[in-house]
Parts: sequence; C-alpha cells; structure tokens
Amino acid sequence: MSKNKSSESVKVVVRCRPLNRREESSGPAGSIVQMDLRLGQVILRNPRAPLSEPQKTFTFDAVYDASSKQRDLYDESVRPLIDSVLAGFNGTIFAYGQTGTGKTYTMQGAWLDPEKRGVIPNAFDHVFTHISRSQSDKQYLVRASYLEIYREEIRDLLDPNHANARALELRESPETGVYVRDLTSCVCKSIKEIEEVMNMGNQARAVGATDMNEHSSRSHALFLITVECSQPGPDGRKHIRVGRLNLVDLAGSERQAKTGIQGERLKEAAKINLSLSALGNVISALADGRSGHVPYRDSKLTRLLQDSLGGNAKTVMVATLGPASQHYEETLTTLRYANRAKNIQNQPRVNEDPKDALLREFQREIARLRAQLNHRKWRSKQKKEQVDGESWDEETEGEEEGAEVEKEAEEYVKLEEQRLEREKEAIKGDRFLLAEEKQRLLGEKERMMGDLRKEQEATEQLTAKYKAMESKLLVGGKNIMDHTNEQQKMLEMKRQEIAEQTRSEREMQQQMLSQDEETLELRETFTSLQQEVEAKTKKLKKLYAKLQCIKAEIQDVNNEHVTSRQELEQTQNELTRELKFKYLIIENFIPPEEKNKIMNRLTFDPEEDQWKFQPLVPAEIKSSQMKKRPTSAVGYKRPISQYARVAIAMGAHSRYRAENIMFLELDMTPPMATSLDRSAEPELHQSPSTDDSPTKDRGVHKSRSWCQMPKSVTSSASNVSLTCPAATAAQ
Ligand code: ADP
Ligand code: MG
Repeated sequence: MSKNKSSESVKVVVRCRPLNRREESSGPAGSIVQMDLRLGQVILRNPRAPLSEPQKTFTFDAVYDASSKQRDLYDESVRPLIDSVLAGFNGTIFAYGQTGTGKTYTMQGAWLDPEKRGVIPNAFDHVFTHISRSQSDKQYLVRASYLEIYREEIRDLLDPNHANARALELRESPETGVYVRDLTSCVCKSIKEIEEVMNMGNQARAVGATDMNEHSSRSHALFLITVECSQPGPDGRKHIRVGRLNLVDLAGSERQAKTGIQGERLKEAAKINLSLSALGNVISALADGRSGHVPYRDSKLTRLLQDSLGGNAKTVMVATLGPASQHYEETLTTLRYANRAKNIQNQPRVNEDPKDALLREFQREIARLRAQLNHRKWRSKQKKEQVDGESWDEETEGEEEGAEVEKEAEEYVKLEEQRLEREKEAIKGDRFLLAEEKQRLLGEKERMMGDLRKEQEATEQLTAKYKAMESKLLVGGKNIMDHTNEQQKMLEMKRQEIAEQTRSEREMQQQMLSQDEETLELRETFTSLQQEVEAKTKKLKKLYAKLQCIKAEIQDVNNEHVTSRQELEQTQNELTRELKFKYLIIENFIPPEEKNKIMNRLTFDPEEDQWKFQPLVPAEIKSSQMKKRPTSAVGYKRPISQYARVAIAMGAHSRYRAENIMFLELDMTPPMATSLDRSAEPELHQSPSTDDSPTKDRGVHKSRSWCQMPKSVTSSASNVSLTCPAATAAQ
C-alpha cells in the first residue's frame, strides 16, 4: 500500500503480564519474555532450544512489562488516540492475545481500584473531562453501544431481551461504512451513565454463558462510543465532527482444540477460528501490500473492523503475552501476528458534517420544540395583553425575552382561571337569571376552564419534552462532573508531556539503531589490512547470526503453516463427514419431490451468509393481485366446485353432502351381486360359506358409487355384497 501524507501505520504495543502463582510453582522458573522498554523491544527465549540458539527479537511502538501500570499504557499509547477521537477521527483499540494473558485486564481492569482501571474506564474519564473543560460554544452528544460476536453471530448486549433476540445484521453505507443494523445505542450524559451502560452489557454477557471465562475466551466484545461535537465555524455556521471509538476485547487467540469434538462444538470451534484466522488473513494481506484483495468479507469481525484496518481510522493494537515457558509457541505466534500488524497503513481523516449525525437531528428537534413552545407562550401572553388592553407584536420578541414571556404566560393562565372562577360565582349568585340559562352559562364557563387546563397541560408536556431533549446534549464547560482544580490539570498535562517525550525518545533510539546497522560499513575506515579483516570478520559474524535467525524464522513459519494446514484439513474432514451424514438422511428419508420443492425455494443471502427460503408468493406480487381464496358456498363449510354444485342439484348424493357425508338411511336395495366374474362362479355365490378367500370382504357393506347405475355390472370385487346380513334379511 502506498504511503501518502495522511496515512499512518497501526500502532502496535505489547504487554506482558506477571507470572501467576500457578506458573511460578509448576513450570520451569523464570519468564521467557524479556523487554527493553527504552528500545521498545521484546526478546523471546525458546525454553527448549539450546542456549547457543539466538533469541528472537521484535521491535514495537512500545512495550510494557510485568511491572507496568495501567496508567502508563493509557497515557503513552491510548491518550493520543482518544484525543483524536474527540477531534473527529475514528479510533480503534483492540486487545489480542492468548486467553489469560490480560486482554480483559488491559481493556477493563479492576473498576474499583483507581490504579487498576483499564483502558475503557480511563477513556470514559477522558471523554467527559474533555467535554467539561471545553469551551461553552461546543455542544456534544455521546452515545454508547455494546455488542459481542459469538459463533459468527452479532448479539446486542444492551438489548434487554438479549438472550432471546435475533442475531443482528451487518449493513454497509457509503457514509458510515459498515454498521450493525438495529443496534441499541444509549445517549450518555456522564461517566456514571456510561459506566452503567457498560455494566449492563457485561451482565448480559455473563447471563447467557455457563462459564464466563470460557465464553469470553470464545467471543469478541466490542464497546462502541460515538462522540459528536458541534462548534461554530469561521463561516458562522455550526459544524459537526463525529468521532467513533471501538474498544475491542478479542476472543483468545489460542488454537481451539478440535480433536474429538463434533456437532455444535465443532461448528463453534470452526467459527471462532474463522473470525480470528480471517483477521490474521486481513492483517497479512494488508501488511504484505502486494495482494490487491483484502478478505474483509470472510468474517463478521473483519467486516466490522474494516475501517480500523487499512481504512479511515487510527488504530492501536495491544498484544498481550504470558511469560510462562509452557506457552512459548502461542507467545511467538502472538508476537509474529503483532509484528505483521505494524505494517498496516491507515488513512484517518476527520469526519466533518456527516449526513447521519444524530446531533444535527437533535438540534433541529430542539429548535422545533422551542419554536412551538415560544409560540404557545406568546399566544397566552398576547391574550393577557388583550385582556389588559395593551397591544403586542410577536416580531418584537427576542430570545432573551423568553423568560419574561414565560412568566407572563403563567400569569395569564392564573388570572384567566381567577376570572372564570369569579364569573362563575357571579352567575351562581345572579338571582335574575333563569335556572336553565344559569346552567348553560355555568356549563360554558366550565368548558372554558377545561380548555384552559388542557392547553396548560399540553404546554407542560411540550416543555418537559424540550427539556429532556436538551438535557441529552452536553455543553462544553458545564458541570458534568466536579471541575478538577488547576493543579490536577497541570499534573495531567505534565504526565502527558512526559509520555510524549518517552515516546519520541524511543522512536529516536529505534531509528538510530536501524541507521547504525545500515551505515556501519560506510563510516569505517581502516588503517591496516589486519584491522579491516577483523572488522569485516566481526561484521560477517553479525550477518551470519542474522542469517541464522532468519533461517530459523523461515523454518518456524513453515512449521506453523503446516500445522494450520493440517488443522484446516482436519476441520474439513470433520465437516465433510457431517455433510455426508446429512446427505444420507436427505437422500433416504425425504421424498425427492419434497426435496426438490425445498431446494427450489432456497437462495443464498451473502449479506447474512445464510441460506434463506424464498417466500411462496413473490414479494412483487401485491396482496391485491393475489389469487383470492374462493369463498365458502353459502351454507357449506368448505369451498365447493361448480361440478359438485350441479351434482347436488341433480340429486342429493352423499358424496356431495357438505355437512354430513355419512349415509345413515337403511339401504333397502336388494343385493346386486351379479357381476360377470361372479356369474362365472355360481357356486361361490350360492354358498358363500365355502368361500374362504382372504381377499373377500366379509360382513362389510359398502355403499355404491353415486354414478353407478343400480343394475350396473362391475368387475370390482370390492363392490360385491356377499354376506350382508341386512340384504339377506330383506331377501
Ligand atoms: P484474558 O482476558 O486475556 O483472558 P484476563 O484479563 O482475564 O485475561 O487476565 C487473566 C488474569 O491475569 C486475571 O486474573 C488478571 O487480573 C491477571 N492479569 C492480567 N494482566 C495483568 C497485569 N498486567 N498485571 C497484573 N495482573 C494481570
Ligand atoms: Mg478476557
């Protein structure tokens, strides 16, 4: 990918957690991970390799060892990103690593301990402190959403119905890129509110899971914050900037054990691997830069992170490592993954005045409500002045007079109520009025009072709506939280400066190191041949070691490829086996015509990555064009054909009796067993008792078909009455 002015690479930082008690007591002592904080390097020791084997070194934007504080990581690596989001950029932080290496610790941490609060709570503080300290001409709208991707399905964690809700769909728009349709988003006005939202989501996440650790290691959690800020520009108009922040806690990167699992578990394992391997493929494709196609569409996760990887966003990846020797392979894989991600180039830009900014809608709605409210109040005030005998002009009313109008309007309502009350009393007390007239006048006054109250109620409702709407917008410089004093502000700034300095120092060190290697030869001048030989031998040794490193690396990568290929093959075999099983059932137990019917109706929806049934009636045929179901014939339960109607008219035959097709009348017709076949065997007819054929019906009287003429001759044996007792009796 070509670098241009506005492009910047994905920042990758690595964090290693301390050895835990179990690892300290069980495994071989010591950590296999060493870190050079000054240079931003991780040195990995292979516990099974001989000491002579060179250690593997990786360089990153920053590294954090076991003693690092949450605050250090935030100030140095996350703070600049959140600042960018507040300025209208898209930002993403994702934690990648094996289960148990500290992804959730880094992202969330321990909420109650200020020292151990992770990236997310610190980001909340940061955002709302920034708003409270910004100028008062800025208006903000902060929204939060929380979702998880589990088995390639997106679940809304803020939906109260989360456990039963349908999986959400991904959509794409040219304005906002890929987004989740119908995702709940909560407007948050303070740190407390946004923390509540987060807690709600965390609880929802835990509810569905039988084992939370297991669940969280298999699902990806995304917390999304949108900060919209409106500020008057130099042109006098209000401009809106929208910053979107994705905080992602990925599923554990370890290989899912697939041996011996089947059915649902197999599918799940395959799907978890799918998302993470798709992420790996996207990173490889982007880092490589040569392959034109980036397989974003391969998984939900990569589609959602599309902008964050190679698009319009600033991205920080935190790769987490465990120091224990038994996880050497996984640690190495994580480091390779992270190392590749460093090469991804993004093109972040400020999102200025996007069409879908919610803040603009809010502002419009607030303005509309305010206008309505003002108009109502103005009307009341005008009426009051008519009562008072003054004249008043709406045009002269300015914004600043709003409060006065409100007061006067309230006064008007009060006065008007009093006046009506007085008039009512006067009517009641008037002895010259007829009782009927009195009643009418009183009724009229009652009605007027009712109207007045209704009017007042409507105004109150409107005011409440207006206030609720307005309260959602945060105004810069207002008391969202207690203003921290100047000293604290200074402290923060100093800390930021220090972080900035450390960062640039490290960058310089890294640059120097790489330049040193390149220019070693150029700078060297040799005084004697001997010296030259020595220097060159040294260099040769260095290069040889490097070569060995690279060779080992190639070998490792090859091995890794082989393993992952074998795993893929294994998955494929298992899935093929499952497929064969399903085929067997379909081919042997589902009638072919049913199968064809179903197959013809199925279509694949690439958006949702699922097979779907086409509706029986194509959508374009409107309901009006649909064939109408024939109405029931009057007096009959079911629709009835013309033919049957004629048949009924011709003579009531049981077959066409809609209501009761049982024929209960005694059949008095004499037995008509004179079929041609039978006549050929008269003895059978005459002595029915000798007939022992099992196929003959015995003791069963079957009614004749209605179209059968009474004397007709039939070849059907089943229509022959052989031993009908009723018929015999009649004879
Ligand atoms: P993951 O989310 O990657 O599966 P967790 O964040 O749940 O891992 O971390 C596993 C355990 O390690 C937790 O008990 C956590 O407190 C601890 N831990 C992780 N990182 C650190 C760290 N940097 N310092 C101290 N403890 C840590
Ligand atoms: Mg976790």
